[in-house]
Amino acid sequence: MSKRGEMDRLTIHSPAKLNLVLDVLGKRPDGFHELRTIFERINLADQITLSRSKSKKINICCSHPHVPRGPSNLVFKAAMMLAKDFSISEGLNIDIIKKIPVAAGLAGGSSNAAAVLTGLNRLWRLGMKPQKLASYASRIGSDVAFFLYDRSYALGTGRGELIEPLDVRTKLWHVLVTPRVKMYTKEVFARLKLNLTNKKDSVNILLPFLRKGDLTRLAGALSNDLEPAILSLRPDFIYLKKKLIDAGATGVCFSGSGPSVFACVESQQHAESLRARFDRRYTQVFAVSTL
Ligand code: ATP
Repeated sequence: MSKRGEMDRLTIHSPAKLNLVLDVLGKRPDGFHELRTIFERINLADQITLSRSKSKKINICCSHPHVPRGPSNLVFKAAMMLAKDFSISEGLNIDIIKKIPVAAGLAGGSSNAAAVLTGLNRLWRLGMKPQKLASYASRIGSDVAFFLYDRSYALGTGRGELIEPLDVRTKLWHVLVTPRVKMYTKEVFARLKLNLTNKKDSVNILLPFLRKGDLTRLAGALSNDLEPAILSLRPDFIYLKKKLIDAGATGVCFSGSGPSVFACVESQQHAESLRARFDRRYTQVFAVSTL
């Protein structure tokens, strides 16, 4: 606390997401794709500490080599927008401890930006209501808004920025494998061949199984329309999916624009045993659950 009784620093957990389904409905006139997805918040998280600084600058500290420290970091964008709009002249340090693999379809950068928006709302006492926060989130990126809600699951529409939190209590366990390959969302979407006929509604197929906690049917209903585009960039990833299925994983799916692949498993024990098995071959393997 400062002499004026203000908070000086704040630490926030910034979790990753998975997409249980991801339907691409079409391309919009603004160049973005119209999506329909179910987000799941998982317990793989970065840690962000915000602290006041005398330097009058925004300083980002992160030891991960692929995370930018300057204006292209989404946390910088978030902090700059708020500093400008609320005429904040004091400096800020943002320390990021990265646990979420970068450019992996897990929305680590977007989650960090959401954590900074909510964190600065408290640290700088901005008094922003949820709707105002959501408008900043959508200006930063399509996946940011989901992380403003303290919910395990949400339906995302539009570019993914229109969020409807879901009242679902099911806790899922996953093994998550992230090959050490960066997949850029733009590149994956550029490879997408849209098939607008015979479009299934994956959200409404999966949602009843998720609500009931029917793991077998849920596993069969996972889907991601970006999979052909991801596999066209990296055909070898089909073997990773196959290996997980051969190892007894139920339902194996890419998250977002990849390359992260996750499976639904029936218990923590099963998730841990698959993690140990795949750990020998891949370096970024996690046993995770719904947060
Ligand atoms: P997207 O689908 O938006 O590409 P992603 O989940 O695949 O997201 P992120 O981890 O968010 O991937 O990183 C995407 C890119 O954003 C990275 O290449 C990185 O350079 C940049 N980036 C900007 N800010 C951050 C941040 N705070 N953490 C991680 N990456 C960031």
